Amino acid sequence: MGGEELELVKEAFASNWIAPLGPHVTAFEQELCQVTGAGYAAALSSGTAAIHLALILLGIDRGDEVICASFTFSASANPIHYQGASPVFVDSEAQTWNMSPELLERAIQERLRIGRKPGAIVIVHLYGMPALMKQIMEVAQRHDIPVIEDAAEALGASYRGRALGSFGHFGILSFNGNKIITTSGGGALLSDDRSLVERARNLSEQARDAAPHYQHSQIGYNYRLSNICAAIGRGQLRVLAQRVAQKRALFERYQSLLGDLPGVAFQPEPEGCFSNRWLTCFTIDPQKSNGVTREDVRLAFSAENIDCRPLWKPMHLQPVFQGYPYYGDGTSERLFDQGLCLPSGTAMTEADVQRVVDVVRVCFGK
Ligand SMILES: *Cc1c(COP(=O)(O)O)cnc(C)c1O
Repeated sequence: MGGEELELVKEAFASNWIAPLGPHVTAFEQELCQVTGAGYAAALSSGTAAIHLALILLGIDRGDEVICASFTFSASANPIHYQGASPVFVDSEAQTWNMSPELLERAIQERLRIGRKPGAIVIVHLYGMPALMKQIMEVAQRHDIPVIEDAAEALGASYRGRALGSFGHFGILSFNGNKIITTSGGGALLSDDRSLVERARNLSEQARDAAPHYQHSQIGYNYRLSNICAAIGRGQLRVLAQRVAQKRALFERYQSLLGDLPGVAFQPEPEGCFSNRWLTCFTIDPQKSNGVTREDVRLAFSAENIDCRPLWKPMHLQPVFQGYPYYGDGTSERLFDQGLCLPSGTAMTEADVQRVVDVVRVCFGK
């Protein structure tokens, strides 16, 4: 927490606005628009809920296909299933680790050839790194397919000076406990289309019709963010820029202390991309590291009781998504085999960082 959250929560208690709705929800939505440049925002109970509503609003239904990045967390793909649609997974490029525009083009061509035009594209900005948005949006626009931008990990990051979450038809954010800012749990749907965001709010409140009694013409959801959580979010937004600076400084520190090790490569940040460096991630190429593997380092951390994880396991390798189409060249499989997320909390001290660095250097015998 940044310090001001508790005051805002106390204010919510004092005003007795505890339930969903309330002045903090509206203010939080406005502040999210200011931070991202999006026209409108709906504050929701999770990022997953935001992706689900985006798919519903794009008309994705039973039997449809939706293209999704393979290299991501399962929450990017699960809502496709909620709609009875099926995912088509597309691999990453090596420059940002996000969806490859070339493979996206190839996937679309192939689906069109067999008469299955995808209804939407879910792209992801993994670990806060922007995808190659210019190329991705060109492909999507050429084929007239709407884009959902999963910016769950990427609040505070930008591409060519423009905030992530503001490029697609819809952008989604997450305020889950592990993200760069948190409301303890929450998310948001962003769009420049006012009527779509209003419909999202209505769907998130059980889709009540405008009538004095309880009337429903559509199936709704209980997806709204509470006034208490929105109060926490408003306090967190005040420290977002500071968090991004801290995360980026931590990345620089790790890179300067570990970048000389053979075969070690940190997640690149190409020209025009500004990552929030949510997590510091790197890969170890066993061909160049004198045999040291990602697993050696992961197990060494584990023995030291330091929590760390491999990079996301691609969706096309997940048991639950077996058998769905996949267009790839092995990039995300390599990243999964060779990659590791380092401890990246903004409360880490220099001594904590040194402890992490020492574990890695010992693995390399340096
Ligand atoms: C966290 C996350 C989500 C889901 O957000 P929740 O708020 O946890 O539902 C979706 N996509 C990605 C890439 C995430 O990291």
